[in-house]
Formats: sequence, structure tokens, C-alpha cells
Amino acid sequence: GVRTRFAPSPTGYMHVGNLRTALYAFLTAKSQGGKFLLRIEDTDQERYVEGAVDIIYNTLRETGLVWDEGPDIGGPVGPYIQSERMGMFKDYALQLVEKGAAYYCFCDKDRLEEVRVLQKASGQSPHYDGHCRDLSKEEVQARLDAGEPYVIRQKMPKTGTTTFHDEIFGDITVENETLDDQILIKADGMPTYNFANVVDDHLMGITHVIRGNEYLSSTPKYNLLYQAFDWEIPVYIHCPPVMKDSTHKLSKRNGDASYEDLIAQGYLKDAVLNYIALLGWSPKGDREIFTLPELIEEWDPAGISKSPAIFDTQKLRYINGEYIKAMPLEQFHEIALPWVRKAVQSEVDTMLIAQMLQPRTEVLCEIPEQLAFIDALPDYDNALYVHKKMKTNEENSLESLKAVLPVLEALDDYSVEGVHAALFGVIEQLGVKNGLILWPVRVAVSGKQFTPGGGVEICALLGKEESLRRIRKGIE
Ligand code: GLU
Repeated sequence: GVRTRFAPSPTGYMHVGNLRTALYAFLTAKSQGGKFLLRIEDTDQERYVEGAVDIIYNTLRETGLVWDEGPDIGGPVGPYIQSERMGMFKDYALQLVEKGAAYYCFCDKDRLEEVRVLQKASGQSPHYDGHCRDLSKEEVQARLDAGEPYVIRQKMPKTGTTTFHDEIFGDITVENETLDDQILIKADGMPTYNFANVVDDHLMGITHVIRGNEYLSSTPKYNLLYQAFDWEIPVYIHCPPVMKDSTHKLSKRNGDASYEDLIAQGYLKDAVLNYIALLGWSPKGDREIFTLPELIEEWDPAGISKSPAIFDTQKLRYINGEYIKAMPLEQFHEIALPWVRKAVQSEVDTMLIAQMLQPRTEVLCEIPEQLAFIDALPDYDNALYVHKKMKTNEENSLESLKAVLPVLEALDDYSVEGVHAALFGVIEQLGVKNGLILWPVRVAVSGKQFTPGGGVEICALLGKEESLRRIRKGIE
């Protein structure tokens, strides 16, 4: 069966691109009834960040990308933490030495440095010069017996080409002479990242390798390793990068959004996941809103694009807004309440606020700013009363407010329905267009042109005393 893995390095945060890789690996497995594995690639201790593994667990769990095998739940091919597998690799490297696909290298730092300097001076890109490639068996044994430190290097073919197939990028061919004899086992006996990655994928039975296309250039070397071992080559699916704009990649360093940042800003996890699915992948039809089970149903890796995906905040906002609109009012009220409370301390009907906000909120973080007028009427310019389409100006707005004031003063039922009936009574009596009354009221009670809900709702929300105070102020 299909087996995919997400193999993050715990570097402290779940970049949007990482989450997308996890999602695509999950979908590739689940759409074919396969298994999704989690392997933590923590061998690069310099990059290791405390707590980073928990961020990975939490993000995957929250978004529903549940793994079938992994560090915390185990599985048949564990351990699933790379640092706990360190003893497993040297034997594999020795097998390659045996087969002539790898060799012992005794070059010390100083020699390698000299070679590098000379190569640079002559305009070559630095690479191992093959000094130890063809040492005799006897010499190798003698030096090992003498206890000389060594590394094990992959023996790249000097001639010919290596071709591998990627599902997205097609057949890729490189000249073997361009491939460096990379180190497989370091002087301390530990594998390099590249070697461990290949051996782990094989030992874990990974059938589809889904990862960022920054690994595309290493894949010929990986491919040669599979061939040397005579192991089955997995299906490669390299995903294009997620960019901030046409020239910059998304990155933590640039302060670009991680999954957690997006959640903290008031994006909903389902909307984020939905958006991330579309970040470089197109479904067959025009539809854009998908739950995770629907994505599994719809998933076809052939829809992954070759070109970089641009992180489009507008689109994420739109999708988030669609999820907000689709939820029951009570649920929206619950998630919006903490944001409402950031702006509104006074006692108000928060359910009414939720009702007003729901159709027009795209991201929860924009709620406080929209509601600031409730606790304190902002200073506003009378120019706000001028509205071309409503045919209002400062003079006729003043007339409208004067007409409205006594009616609202006399009103007992200050509910939305009550205020609505009262204001429409005025409109009917004066025989004017709705906007001529409703626009001035909205401006007077909110001090703003754009508000969640209209004048009617805002009056009801503020209550009789406060809304009348504001209308009187508008008349002053
Ligand atoms: N540990 C690698 C990373 O976090 C993943 C490489 C792979 O998926 O093969 O970028």
C-alpha cells in the first residue's frame, strides 16, 4: 500500500510551506487508502529548538492531519525520531563500500581546505577531488588498523548521466560528473542528513516522497543510492516553493506568517488548511471550499503546479470569510467573543453584535477595530454626512436627525424591530428615500461611514440613552 511521510526538522515553527507539505503527503496517502507517517528529523542539533516537536504535533493534530505511525504512537518501523536511529546507518554505508558505490576517505581538514582554496582560485565550485577514491583494499585496511580517522563517501560515477522522474517536474537528467562525492558517514560514525534520509525512507517503506523542491537538486544523489542498494525508487513529488511575492520566499526570518501566527490573527484552522491546499494545487473544477474529507476525495497530485505559489492574503481572507459565514451564529458568537471583548467593555447584547459582524467579517482580528465606536464615539468630521448615493449632505442630514430625535425619544421598544419600525415610520411620514434618514443616523451614532450593521442595529445595540445622546450631539 501507499506510505507517505512528513519528515520535519524541529526548527521551532510550522511554516505555511511545511504545513502544505504535510497536507499533500497526508492527502496522497489517504486518497489511496494508505498510511501517513511522521518522522522527526532532529539530527542537525544546531538547528534544534526546544519545544519545536510539540509545535509539530499540535499543528498536525489541530488541523486533523493525523499520523498512523510516529514517535508518540510508535509503529512497525520505528523509532520515528531520527536521532534514535543513529546506530542503524553505518552498516548500510559499509554495504555500499562492499559494492564499490562508496569508499573510505582519510583526508583531513587541512587537506580539504587546501583543495577548496585551489578550486575557488581556479573558478571551480568546491567539491571533493577524489583523492581517496581509488585507495587499494590493503591500504585502506592498514590505515583503519592504524586508527586513522575517516569518513565514508558516496562514489559518484564519473561519466554518463543520472535520470530520475518527478511527478510534477517530469524527467530530470544530470551529468554525473557534476555530482560531488558527498559524505555518507561522518568522522564520528554518524550519518549525514542526506544518507539518513534515504535509508530511513527505505526502511520505513515509503512509497511516495513528498517534499519541497529545494531537495530536487539532491535527488540524483539519492537516486544513485537507491540504485546502488538495489532498492525500489519511490515516487517523487517535489512541491514548488511558497513565495511572499514573485522574488521572496516565505520565511520565518522575514517575519512571514506561520500557522500559529495565522491562528493568532483570527484565521480558522479549517480555512487555513483549505487555503493551504490551494497554494500550488488546483482541483479539477472551479470549486474552492473543501473540508479535509472532501480534499481527500478530490486529491490528485497531478494538480500540483510547477510554478511557485504566491501566498495571497486576500484569498486566505476570502476563504476565511466563507467559513465564518457558513457557521451557526452561536458558534461564531463563541469564537468572536474574545475579540469583541478586546474593544467593548460596556454591557451589550453580544449576540446582536455577532449577528452584525458575521456577514462582514473575514478575519477575527479585525473585529476590535470595527467595534471601537461602541464604547466611545470617535471624533468625526461632518463631511461624513455627505453621501452621494444616499443624496445626503450636511444640511439635509441635520434635518433628518431633528426629525428622528423626538420619535426615538418617545420610543419604548428599543429593540432592533422597535427602532426599525420607528425610523421607517419617519421615512414614510416624510415621504423620503430610506438613505436620507438611515445614513445620518448611522453616522451620528457611530461616527463612522463603515460599520457592522446599520443605524437601526447600532441604535438598538447602544440602547436608548446612549444613542439619543449621540444623535443630539449630531444636531449640536
Ligand atoms: N527534514 C527535511 C525538512 O524539514 C525534510 C526532507 C524530506 O522531506 O525529505 O526540510
